[in-house]
Amino acid sequence: MRRLRVGLLGVGKIARDQHIPVLQASERFELVACASRNAQVDGVANFADLPTMLSGRPDIDCIAICTPPQAHFSAAALALEAGKHVLLEKPPATTTREIALLAAQAARLGPTLFQTWHSRFAAGVAPARDWLRKRTLKRGRIVWKEDVRVWHPGQQWIWEAGGYGVFDPGINALSMLTEILSAEVLVTSAHLKFPANKQAPIAVDLKMRTEDGVAIDAEFDFRHTGVQTWDIDLETDQGTLKLSMGGSQFSIDGAKQEPGDLRGEYARLYARFADLCAGGASEVDWRPMQLVADAFLVGGRENVEPFID
Ligand code: NAP
Repeated sequence: MRRLRVGLLGVGKIARDQHIPVLQASERFELVACASRNAQVDGVANFADLPTMLSGRPDIDCIAICTPPQAHFSAAALALEAGKHVLLEKPPATTTREIALLAAQAARLGPTLFQTWHSRFAAGVAPARDWLRKRTLKRGRIVWKEDVRVWHPGQQWIWEAGGYGVFDPGINALSMLTEILSAEVLVTSAHLKFPANKQAPIAVDLKMRTEDGVAIDAEFDFRHTGVQTWDIDLETDQGTLKLSMGGSQFSIDGAKQEPGDLRGEYARLYARFADLCAGGASEVDWRPMQLVADAFLVGGRENVEPFID
């Protein structure tokens, strides 16, 4: 079967770390073009922006959108309008209406819209979800603490309005939480800390509960140096499950479990995209983004010391 031709938009950190190597190794996709204002990729056609990529390579089947969230809506809408399947990096958009409209546009026009949460493809997530299904949740705790200077060097967009700040990594935890729990989750309160010189939060304390009333607390912090922590602890009636290292590791009562599927996160993510394209289906789930939006709606705000990059 012919491989699907992909044009990638936004050659930055995640494109180079994951998308490009996974696409270059793929048996189901072929990376044929990239569009980026300031970067080029060897061995493919390069364009400055999406419109010129669409007109320069009309044979492209899919657009992988790897720009920051502020640029997602217009790009995804243009690609869908051109009849292309779209893989959209997280976070999906900057407002909840944008992603709702994209979902409606894909449904109306027919191409696949895969609104991704890469962390859901981490090795521990599927086995954790299966284990939890047979247990009763008693309490949950998320600790997501990383050093923004290490993981987002020079990324100004993350501090601008619509850039999510510490919710950019934090939403990964929320995407896993909403995937593995069978009950729905809602925000009860939030405390957002904004550097005096930035438009997005540097740290957030979030209180949530399931619809059954089980408390889940989350602590997101971008100021953390030393050992980096991306953990979800879920206490149940039959033991405590821990997803650590962003979901790549999984333990029960301290005993490490072996994930069955040894492929990497983005290899699994692109396999899902190929299946969706082949089946003519879309996948859109913006519940993690709703939790973030709700945290902004109900959250108290504290100004903290300016952040100097
Ligand atoms: P990045 O390194 O800043 O790269 C994004 C690229 O998009 C930029 O290099 C830029 O390339 C292009 N771009 C287009 N419009 C832009 C705009 N308005 N502002 C800034 N850049 C713009 O960011 P990234 O880390 O790759 O993240 C991109 C998206 O992937 C984000 O939504 C992020 O949450 C998600 N993501 C990131 C990671 C990670 O580990 N970094 C992991 C998973 C997902 P040109 O200047 O050449 O156009």
